[in-house]
Amino acid sequence: MPTLSIVTIDEEMLDLKENVLRQKALEVPVYTSWYLKWCEKIALEMFEIMYTTYGAALAAPQVGIQLRLIVMDPARVNFGPHALINPIITYKADNEEASSENCLSLPQLCGRVFRSTEVHVSAINLNGVREEHRMHGLLARIIQHELDHLDGVLYTDRLRPGDKLEKSDRGARRKAMESINKLQKK
Ligand SMILES: [Zn+2]
Repeated sequence: MPTLSIVTIDEEMLDLKENVLRQKALEVPVYTSWYLKWCEKIALEMFEIMYTTYGAALAAPQVGIQLRLIVMDPARVNFGPHALINPIITYKADNEEASSENCLSLPQLCGRVFRSTEVHVSAINLNGVREEHRMHGLLARIIQHELDHLDGVLYTDRLRPGDKLEKSDRGARRKAMESINKLQKK
């Protein structure tokens, strides 16, 4: 049973600087084995929360922890479960495409966001080893969304003039709320 839970933010509160979702997360001191162990423990809980809520990925600030840690395992992409510590973008394609995004921290909303179609990401894994990932399409979109979380940026900040924040359709909204409630009752 996870001890952590998802931090959400209301549409009216998006500019609240005090919310952990609006703060810059700290680098994990990966040279300390204690910290790596702790990251592993948190990552396992984050994976559990992510799977229970049918999320594709989750950043530590979304469970109230201000560290640069992301877990991901998008169902529609052949990538597999990954934990990324201190991830950084080493390459970002100029080419962008727009698609609708939603977020477990804003469960009732969605919006169209432009993202680079390809990024290369360098990150430390849970064994303390640096890995490089080349990500395209949906995977590239997901990691850019998650990396933004580490800098206190939400996808709502990236809407372009004319692109409005929308209520997600009722089915998706109900599913999102049900999965979060289910998690809280466990
Ligand atoms: Zn998100």
